[in-house]
Amino acid sequence: MLGKPKDFSLLDKFLDLLHRKKTKNLDYQIQHIHEEVFAKTNCLDCAKCCKTLGPLITEKDIQRISSHLRLSAIQFENTYLRTDEDGEKVFQKMPCVFLALDNFCLIYDVRPKACREYPHTDRKNFYQITNITKANIRTCPAAEEIVSRLYQNTAVK
Ligand code: SF4
Ligand code: SF4
Repeated sequence: MLGKPKDFSLLDKFLDLLHRKKTKNLDYQIQHIHEEVFAKTNCLDCAKCCKTLGPLITEKDIQRISSHLRLSAIQFENTYLRTDEDGEKVFQKMPCVFLALDNFCLIYDVRPKACREYPHTDRKNFYQITNITKANIRTCPAAEEIVSRLYQNTAVK
């Protein structure tokens, strides 16, 4: 990783600042960095998100994945999902049951939306998700790199 601040508390403060203070072209800047970082990131060497996080599973995810697995939605839910303390549907166990030993996702083409979008560093209105990004930089090395580079490039500090 390129000369970045290793101190998460520094990045936390920076993310708080991005949340409070309007930063010109923030989405453009972070999306550009996101593309650069993911162009050189091989998620198959990592898979930390699939091993440790529990993506939220939407009704659309349930329909799409159960149909792919040739299960009814109820069969799929009973076999793979549970309801968490916030009332959200998540996988019963992590590491994810669909993660293969070589880190490939066995349901890659139909994987949950949350998996497709993680770590969310290319989404619009990034300033709205700075809190969740604090957690993501601790799990995802690419997210940490993206926020660190943004920190180095931006005048808002
Ligand atoms: S934690 Fe980040 S770098 Fe690792 S597999 Fe997930 S998205 Fe890729
Ligand atoms: S469904 Fe696929 S991408 Fe999502 S956590 Fe499981 S293995 Fe990872």
